[in-house]
Amino acid sequence: MPSLGRLRRIVQDVSGASTLDESLRLISDQVKDVMSVDVCSIYLMDADRGDLVLMCTQGLDPGSVGNVRMPIGDGLVGTIAERQQVLKTDDALQHPSFHYFPETNEELFHAFLGVPIVHYRQVVGVLVVQQQESRQFDSEHEAFLVTVAAQLAGTLSHAINSGKVSNLLKGRKKANTHIDGIVGSSGIGIGKVVRAGGSISFKDVDEVCALDKDAELLSFKRALVAVGKELDQGHQQMADTPGDVQAIFDAYRLILESDDLQVAIRNRIYDGLIAPAALKSVIEEHAAIFEEMDDPYFQARGEDIRNIGLRILRYLVEPNAKPNEYGQPVILIGDVVSVSDIAEVPAEKLAGIVCQQGSALSHTAILAGALGVPAVMGVGKLPLRMLAGQSGIVDGYRGRVYFQPSSALMAEYIRLVRQESEFDRALDKLRHLPGETRDGYRLSLMVNTGLLADISPGLEKGAEGIGLYRTEIPFMIHDSFPSEEEQYRLYRKVLKDFYPRPVTMRTLDIGGDKPLPYFPVNEDNPYLGWRGIRFTLDHPEIFSGQLRAMLRASKGLENLKILLPMVSSVDEVDAFLLLLDKSVASLKEEGVEVNRPPIGVMIEVPSTMFLLDFLAERVDFLSIGTNDLTQYLLAVDRNNDQVARLFSRLHPSVVRALHLIVEKSRKLDLNVSLCGELAADPAAVLLLLGLGVDSLSMNAHGLPRIKHVIRSFKKSDTEQLLAEALKLGSEKEIRSLLNNALEDAGLGGLIRSGV
Ligand code: PEP
Ligand code: MG
Repeated sequence: MPSLGRLRRIVQDVSGASTLDESLRLISDQVKDVMSVDVCSIYLMDADRGDLVLMCTQGLDPGSVGNVRMPIGDGLVGTIAERQQVLKTDDALQHPSFHYFPETNEELFHAFLGVPIVHYRQVVGVLVVQQQESRQFDSEHEAFLVTVAAQLAGTLSHAINSGKVSNLLKGRKKANTHIDGIVGSSGIGIGKVVRAGGSISFKDVDEVCALDKDAELLSFKRALVAVGKELDQGHQQMADTPGDVQAIFDAYRLILESDDLQVAIRNRIYDGLIAPAALKSVIEEHAAIFEEMDDPYFQARGEDIRNIGLRILRYLVEPNAKPNEYGQPVILIGDVVSVSDIAEVPAEKLAGIVCQQGSALSHTAILAGALGVPAVMGVGKLPLRMLAGQSGIVDGYRGRVYFQPSSALMAEYIRLVRQESEFDRALDKLRHLPGETRDGYRLSLMVNTGLLADISPGLEKGAEGIGLYRTEIPFMIHDSFPSEEEQYRLYRKVLKDFYPRPVTMRTLDIGGDKPLPYFPVNEDNPYLGWRGIRFTLDHPEIFSGQLRAMLRASKGLENLKILLPMVSSVDEVDAFLLLLDKSVASLKEEGVEVNRPPIGVMIEVPSTMFLLDFLAERVDFLSIGTNDLTQYLLAVDRNNDQVARLFSRLHPSVVRALHLIVEKSRKLDLNVSLCGELAADPAAVLLLLGLGVDSLSMNAHGLPRIKHVIRSFKKSDTEQLLAEALKLGSEKEIRSLLNNALEDAGLGGLIRSGV
């Protein structure tokens, strides 16, 4: 009987395959072998023609591959796809749905078991086994085949997409082939595809013995020096970018200068390998250690090691390599795109970034966001060599990339880019105007920041202050907890740059999806675990260092407000207030007189919605964090792409929760702001206006558009919309109500980019 071990091997082998054909062959070979059947075939959906085509078979006539096509609902295979159900019969030939194709020799096979391959509710294909003798496949066979299909659906769907890209480039197909990934940084970029780090890849490096060890050692040493210089140059070119972006260069330098890596590579050269082969084996080993960790932050560090490895390899293979010339806008594409790859392209020429690997947490995504360059991460395997030189579109709103787009699609995206920049230019005139409705209701419009890079865009867009400064980002790209002094310098700069506007600094909110590389925590449910204030209260030495740095930084400016993340009970607030008093007192003892700033609580754990009267006795303001509030209210992990469709920002329960919070806060005379992504969603803003929140905080990019929405409506109209929305039972209905209102106000163009 098929074992779990065999199942794992099939899945592993298939995910290691480099082409769709290889994946299909591996599946059919191994399933046929494990299940001891006469035939295993795979049919895949041809989305363009709307039917299923036989893509691979072990057992039927090989000539039938590509020729047998089955419309949905037709034949046994089409029936399986239509019903999305398993079908088994001891004699296929007698089955009423059987459709005979003479080219297959199928008449020889009687027993039939077929299962649909389904990825996110969409049929990708059908997996079939057949046997000559007439017999019923048993439930264990059925369970095994269903499991194989379910496990491979995602991999196959990805392989189909990248196969489509290859076919397109071979000129077989002219369509707007796209590939989907994870949003790394929003925006739209159009340009020529350029392979990051040139055409060098570890794949081309063979394990060859060195003829002259000393020469290999020397070339390795020279490559290290060259990469060091390149990092220095990149560092200088990025001099205008924030200190935390520059910290990324420091992280690269640490890897480059790491004794562990250098000694291991030298040893392998001593053992007889050429330098590129020694480098390849050490880099792959070290990167794999990180990549096998569950934690996305550590996985991203594996990416950094590979980046540096490829840089060194480039100089080993082409010792006189020169930087590329960039005449036209480029889309940098690579397995990973390193910070130095980015630094190599003049800022005005960098139109987009596409990474085969990586997550929204990788340094590349952080940097792309800070630089305002659209980026799509984690797109999976692509034929990079073939893509270089082609034209492409990076849609960073949808996490989608188009290669060789048709002229109609290209024209549409060019129109969108123009429209966006014209619209943004037109909105510039709103810069000095308040966020005020047509009937005189005013709310403050603030920015969310975390990188120093967001500071100037925030000011340029007319932000009235910082509504959320996420202090954990600088903590995340350091190699140890930053000292009080380091934090003081950073906070002082932020407070000064924004002075006299208010700056709301949130205390450290690590945990969940924001682990610290130097302080690993192993938890089964990190979002329900040691996060935010739970962590900092348990580490008063770290917490008071941060509080002291904030208090000192605000001295003389007095524009600081402190915000507490992940509060779930008033005890936590009381414990914090004690610590705050102690920090103020300790500074006083040192001769530094500081004022106690306004204190606020994030309303993001649902329990706090029912504690508002107790909180009102203790704090000065509230800030609703809809990212987490939605996650906890709906029990949907905000970072899990498998359930991303269930993360409804305007779910009726979310709307009702917001209603409850704002109504109650008003009665308690508590100032209430909203700083989750919802604040940048034009449709949602109509409801927030109706509710009467005091301020909204969002990324700088979204601010002018939201101001425009606010200035286009009357508060009384939005109150009406809110009353109607509160009667609706689904996000779909709520969205359509709000989108209609946007359309009627002539703001239909904002519907797409706001979400
Ligand atoms: C939130 O949860 O809505 C929020 C603003 O904080 P973060 O996204 O940093 O958790
Ligand atoms: Mg939060």
